[in-house]
This record gives sequence, structure tokens and C-alpha cells, in this order.
Amino acid sequence: MIPLSKILIGAMRFRDRKSAAEIIHKAIDYGFNYIDTSPCYCHKSETENSEAWVGEALSAPGYRERVMVSTKCAPGDGGRGLGPFVPAQGFGVRTKEQLAQVFNQSLRRLGMQSLDYYHLWTTHTMEQFDAAMQPGGWYDGVMEYKKNGAFNHLGITTHAGPDTIIAFLETGKFETVTLPLNVINLTRLTAVDYCAKKNIPVIAMNPLAGGFCAANGRLKELAFRYLMALPNVHILAGFSAANEVDYAKWILDTAPNYKQSADQILAKVDRLIDAREPRCTSCGYCQPCPNNINLGACLSYYNIYKYMKIPHAKKSFKEKQWEDGLRLDRCTACGACSARCPNQLPLQDIIRDAQKLLYEK
Ligand code: SF4
Ligand code: SF4
Repeated sequence: MIPLSKILIGAMRFRDRKSAAEIIHKAIDYGFNYIDTSPCYCHKSETENSEAWVGEALSAPGYRERVMVSTKCAPGDGGRGLGPFVPAQGFGVRTKEQLAQVFNQSLRRLGMQSLDYYHLWTTHTMEQFDAAMQPGGWYDGVMEYKKNGAFNHLGITTHAGPDTIIAFLETGKFETVTLPLNVINLTRLTAVDYCAKKNIPVIAMNPLAGGFCAANGRLKELAFRYLMALPNVHILAGFSAANEVDYAKWILDTAPNYKQSADQILAKVDRLIDAREPRCTSCGYCQPCPNNINLGACLSYYNIYKYMKIPHAKKSFKEKQWEDGLRLDRCTACGACSARCPNQLPLQDIIRDAQKLLYEK
């Protein structure tokens, strides 16, 4: 396996074909050696979408051979459901035949004969995983492509909780895992530790928590520095402008002189957030919630909005309500999380306040 660079190219936030090419070329020239796309990213039509833009950028002489290309499709609907088969966007892919249709569509859009990585995408629940693994299903289909040399490495992309992620990886079917990880959402760290022990590279998506860490320059830098400090973690940065690629390169170049450990960086984030009351540290120990709420993730938006006064945190939280883990409005005040929180936080009060602040107009 060719080692992944520390910073990787996410292809989900491109604005248009021209700026996508500029970003991709610059990132590859800087040595970022992996690009992750999907049938759904930037999808406007069969010809205007992330896969097509990536393919065109990599058709320029001297680029394809310097980057590993990854795309993916999902057995589910992007959330926690199964949903119908939507080939154009790569959702609801559960049979071998559907997998073949979507895989060939990706090759066609990318203009490539073969890929480097393919991912079981947005697989957040055991039900979705089992649907992909049924005989004659997603996994059987993708392994035929792998056997024929259409791609080299199989990974999984998931927003599941750490125990479920570990259960996926324990099957031994995946060489990498892509999961949300950032300085204010550490709820999956036990899965990251598991991967470190098993030598499974972790690809950290959402490094800036959906972009809102970028609203504060100091927080943005700490967010990158924290992930840089974690061995075995690679930062999947969803670039939308060329200057963001320059910033990532600056982080990379200055990393050897930045002598802070991951824990020291987290302490700096703590001071920056400067909460006046004991606050949630997004450790994730209160999981699972009977209503699938990822409380640590929800409260990270709340902390940044409440204590750092970054309005974008609330906007970002609202935009992500498609994700079950962030549906704090579904809390039934059952108290299960309070019983498990090692910080003994007054969670019922905090949840009520978070609901008020994050959902109020
Ligand atoms: S509520 Fe408590 S247990 Fe849950 S993530 Fe926050 S600090 Fe951790
Ligand atoms: S109190 Fe709310 S967030 Fe906590 S476990 Fe119960 S439903 Fe989930």
C-alpha cells in the first residue's frame, strides 16, 4: 500500500469545474497524494459533478500518476435509512447489479479504467452494513471489481459511533476507515485508538467541523494542528478555494517546528472556548443514546456557539440536521447519558439550553 500523505484532497466542496482543476493541480503539486470523490458531490448533471471535474483535472499531463483516486457508493440513503436506489448519486446500492451500474458510472465520469480506492459509503448502522454484506449484494459485487483489478484498496466511510466502527473493522474487510474527527468532536477517539493498534489508516473527514472552525483563525489553526499531531490520522480537507490549499501546505510545512502534543493542543482549545461552566468535552462516553443522538457532537456546536459566539456554528448545526446524531430535538430526556457522563455534567439542563439556543429562530 502506498502511504497516504498527511493531508488529502476532499472533492465535495468545489464551486465549479475551473476552480476544481486549480485546487486539484495545486494540491497534487504540493504532494497531497489522495483525492476522495463520490457520485453525489457537486452533482448537477451527468457531466457537471465532482467525479467529472476530478477526471478532467487529472487528465492534464503529469497528474493522474501522482495521486490515488477514491470514490464510493452507499447501501443506504446517506442518513441512517436504506432508501431507494438512486444511481446518479450513488445511494441505495444493495445488489451486485446496482453496484456494477454505479461503479461503471464512476469510471465513465472520471474517464478512468481503474481506481486506487473504493469505499462502502455513509454506512452508519449495522442494518446498512448487513444489507451491503448479504449474498449477491454490494460487497460481493465490489470484490469482483477488485479481483479484476478495477481498484486496489477497499475502505469504509461512516459516521457511526466508535463501537459500531470497530465492529465494521473487525470483519477484516477494510484497509482504511474514513470518519468524522475534529478538535471539537472527539466522540470516535476509541475507534481511532483501535486503528492505531491495528495499523489501519484513519482518514479524518470534517477536520474543521463542517467549516465552522474556520470562522475563528486560532481555532482553525488548532483544528489542523491537532489532527497533524495524531499519528495514523490523515486529514481529508474539503477544499473550495486555492488559498485553502496554500493554508494546508503552510500547516504541513510548519508542523515539524510545532512541538505541542495532541493533549496540549486540546488544552489550548479549552482555553479558547473559555466556558464559564463545566462543559462537554465530546468524549463520547455517554453513547449510545436510545434516540441515536450523538450528544457530544451536538454539544460541540453548542459550546462554540454559546461561548465563542461564532454564529456559523448554529448555521452549520441546522444544515446538518439530516444527520440523526445531530437531531437534539428528538431528546426524550431519558437520562441515560447523564448516568454515563464521566464529567457528571448537569446534562438535562445543558440539553434544554442547547435546544433553546440551537433551534430558536
Ligand atoms: S456529555 Fe459527557 S460523556 Fe457525553 S460527550 Fe459530553 S462530556 Fe462526554
Ligand atoms: S437524555 Fe436525550 S440525549 Fe441523553 S440519552 Fe436520553 S434521549 Fe439521548
